[in-house]
Amino acid sequence: MELREAAIELQEENLALREELAKLRAEMKRKQELVFRNGVYYLPNGDHEDGPFCPKCHDADGKQIRLHEFTHYLAGEQWICKNCNSDYVRTNV
Ligand SMILES: [Zn+2]
Repeated sequence: MELREAAIELQEENLALREELAKLRAEMKRKQELVFRNGVYYLPNGDHEDGPFCPKCHDADGKQIRLHEFTHYLAGEQWICKNCNSDYVRTNV
């Protein structure tokens, strides 16, 4: 009886570890695929790119935070991060 319980426990632990590993692998892959261009990150996705993403949030916290288009009346066209409030000059490339 005890042995069976231990076996089930191990099985559950194994499953949890597998899930964790799959999550980490997916995360690693995602990070490797990011392209740094014109001061921001892009994520190639088939025939187009997602993003841009905030380089500050990514480099400091490993988070992919999408930047929002913003036009400042003095600074002109910018991307702004709503997570850390960083702004970046917007380019069309
Ligand atoms: Zn940010």
